[in-house]
Amino acid sequence: MDKVFSGIQPSGQLHLGNYLGAVKKWIELTKDHECVYCIVDYHAVTQDYEPGKMQDRIFEMTAGLLACGLDPEKCRIFVQSHVPEHTELAWILNTVTPMGELERQVQFKSKSEKQPDNLNVGLFGYPVLQAADILLYKAQKVPVGEDQVQHLELSREIVRKFKGRFGYKFPEPQPILSDVKRLKGLDGDDKMSKSLGNTIAIDETPKSITKKIKKAKTDPQRKKRKDAGDPKVCNIYTMHKFFSSEKDQKWAAKGCKSADIGCGECKERITKNIIEHLEPIGAELAKLRKDPDKVWAVLAKGAQSCRREAAANLDEVRKAMGLR
Ligand code: SF4
Repeated sequence: MDKVFSGIQPSGQLHLGNYLGAVKKWIELTKDHECVYCIVDYHAVTQDYEPGKMQDRIFEMTAGLLACGLDPEKCRIFVQSHVPEHTELAWILNTVTPMGELERQVQFKSKSEKQPDNLNVGLFGYPVLQAADILLYKAQKVPVGEDQVQHLELSREIVRKFKGRFGYKFPEPQPILSDVKRLKGLDGDDKMSKSLGNTIAIDETPKSITKKIKKAKTDPQRKKRKDAGDPKVCNIYTMHKFFSSEKDQKWAAKGCKSADIGCGECKERITKNIIEHLEPIGAELAKLRKDPDKVWAVLAKGAQSCRREAAANLDEVRKAMGLR
């Protein structure tokens, strides 16, 4: 079985964007891969944050993953800072990473623009820590969004540089690209993100889901009820693709293009389908919040297993470098 590594920031509550863009894929991959999934708190601290809230954010993210159906018996789930070998390998990989490659990373530029008063070295070296996360477990595959492809290319470059310098060969990690259309935020203009306030959380109440979808953007060209719409450009239709039966998807697509249905009706139908889909997830999440020990135990078990493997792999790396 190929090994998969993936990380997610402890941003707190999972929302539909995370659920559809990452978590569903993670669950699917556990069927035929050995999967290592990490809550990347060391990545998170490169951005402005409140230290007092970090543990709650880690807890909520983990509980959310479990509530969505990620089975800790079929994969390892752990917190990055619980396995210190990640940062040790990142330091080692820094020594073979060209500065110019890091300067070219698009994500560094966009993140720098978002936090001009906190341009720290950790943010600059973020892709090296990502490479360390993957290589520490000799993972062959990494599920990524298009915005992460450049970082993964850099990981492969680091593998080659390391082999050239020390003769030690990590596997070159390959991307598993998502084949599903990305869900935009409710504003229809950007990706779904908690910081942009355009999300639906996985345990949002039916009342709140209804209110948010009522206000969500649709096809901007469809200004009046009698105008035909284009489902391909409408985020509500993208939601139908994820949460509705084939019958409802056809109903929405046909009715939209012929103007037989209005956006109000279309939104009512998707609201009902999303509420039904999220109901068991929300119920499971509520149960886990009442049993925090169960959630922390999953992370402790994951860290214990990952530390064993990380220490052994790092030992090989140290030896190759003449370090003991
Ligand atoms: Fe979007 Fe549905 Fe309105 Fe068409 S009818 S524009 S798919 S909300």
